[in-house]
Amino acid sequence: MQTRLPPFASALLAAAFACVLADSPALASDRTVILMLFDGFSPAYVEKFDTPNLNRMRVEGAFTDRMLPPFPSISLIGSFTIATGCWPKHHGIVTNKFLDPEKGLYDHSIDADWLTGCETLNVAAERQGIQTASLGFVGRFSGTKGDLASIVSPARQWVDYPDDHGRADQVIAELQKPAADRPRLILAYFKGPDAAGHFTGMDSPETKAAVETSDAVVGRVLEAVAAAEGAEDIAVLVTTDHGMKPVEQVVNIARILRRHSIPARAVSTGTTSFLYFEDKSDAVIDDALVTLSTYLELDVYRKEDAPKEWHLGTGPRVGDLIVSAKPPLFIEDIEEWPWFTHFLQYIGPDFLDSSASLKATHGYPSDTPGVEGILYGWGSGIAAGREVPSVRAVDVHPTVMRLLGAEPGEPVDGVVATGLLDGAAAEESHAAGVADSGAGER
Ligand SMILES: [Zn+2]
Repeated sequence: MQTRLPPFASALLAAAFACVLADSPALASDRTVILMLFDGFSPAYVEKFDTPNLNRMRVEGAFTDRMLPPFPSISLIGSFTIATGCWPKHHGIVTNKFLDPEKGLYDHSIDADWLTGCETLNVAAERQGIQTASLGFVGRFSGTKGDLASIVSPARQWVDYPDDHGRADQVIAELQKPAADRPRLILAYFKGPDAAGHFTGMDSPETKAAVETSDAVVGRVLEAVAAAEGAEDIAVLVTTDHGMKPVEQVVNIARILRRHSIPARAVSTGTTSFLYFEDKSDAVIDDALVTLSTYLELDVYRKEDAPKEWHLGTGPRVGDLIVSAKPPLFIEDIEEWPWFTHFLQYIGPDFLDSSASLKATHGYPSDTPGVEGILYGWGSGIAAGREVPSVRAVDVHPTVMRLLGAEPGEPVDGVVATGLLDGAAAEESHAAGVADSGAGER
């Protein structure tokens, strides 16, 4: 028997039904998101080498080959920017090595206690009741608070991390759990082709092998997704902390400071050096700025005058002067050089050939061709067959949270990269009241 509903009730029912349809097949609140970060994965590698699984993601999903890292474009600042969706001036990890007036030297730590603000993906997700597995990801634990996710991989130090297939085993073990017991957010860090790119160059057989391993690992995870319970509700994002660029010379910053009697401590990594002065009077710092600005190989700024798009702020962790080497130069503190070269800080040249030690690196400002990375999406909530011009590293966090149907961390600087998402996932923004980035670069 048919029941006749009054017209307003039919309209209400139709609207409710349309809502359900719009959200199908996956409600964001049912979705599982896997974020895989491969260290130092340049988009150039997808062009140079055989990457069938990444190619599949490009065809079936949405991607950009211009994931723009923050400055300096190196691992810890990049990973924490992806994790928090905040600029370095807000999360506080302003490069891979810096001085903190109270805590002393920061050196590649992944301990969340170093953060000065913002929430990592795992903290924001767990706060909203979303179980998270953080496998080698920055900020997964804190020295004072312990583990910061429901599931945390055991190794605390980078040197103890598994190889990329070992990491994939951890991801796949989570995917093999029944959907009801599975963490809805899986964050996984992979060593990727970073070391091979640095020490053997971007075209070497070693880098080719590392890239093909990364791709094989992606393939294993995609297969595990297909076999998982609720496969249609799983999204996979593959990204990196930065790209890679060939280098030829190292800046002998200790020698340069000595030669000109500049009274500063240099803390250098990648392609930048932070210079900290004990005497912070304008006369001393400006004098050094004028001297160093005569080097055409270097860009030098007072932190107050640094380009706004660097977003480093003027806090005490940022050097009074920021020295940024231009390609193809890089800067590492002399303590990182082999011991038998340490005399070069006294009598060496200002710049040295580096071909015997380092073939490629990263750290340059994010508008430098080569430092951009990949960001590929595939699966539930991701647009199909779409290339997006660029996405900033700060936008990854809000995009992941959108896919989970949750709010981003508090506070957040990035916006949702709606260009990567399908219609329904992109729409959910309005309900969540989160600003959209569109696809473009700002
Ligand atoms: Zn690197």
